[in-house]
Amino acid sequence: MKVQVDKAKCIGCGTCVALAPKTFKLGDDGKSEAFAQDVDSQETLEQAIQSCPAQAISKVDEPKPAEAVEPAPEESSQPAQAPQPVAQVSQLEETPAPQEGGNGNV
Ligand code: SF4
Repeated sequence: MKVQVDKAKCIGCGTCVALAPKTFKLGDDGKSEAFAQDVDSQETLEQAIQSCPAQAISKVDEPKPAEAVEPAPEESSQPAQAPQPVAQVSQLEETPAPQEGGNGNV
């Protein structure tokens, strides 16, 4: 049996952690999360579900990851653009170098 915690509902009371410590733990945000599945007995998990004061625990077929991440879009057929250079070499050469030795204009 797999379970999932709705963090939006969880109030972090810790009841589920106390009842089923192999399945639930409190995260850094103070909310419970199901970090393992199929380790506590179904009876224990049912008890945790019934005991949750926020009704935040539910049975699921397949739990979603704690932080659902949108799948990355497929790579397009267009090649990735190379970063543009800061200045073209031809632009750098447009500025004439100062001439040494003078040319009579003092
Ligand atoms: Fe959250 Fe419910 Fe567990 Fe309490 S029993 S920590 S409200 S999921």
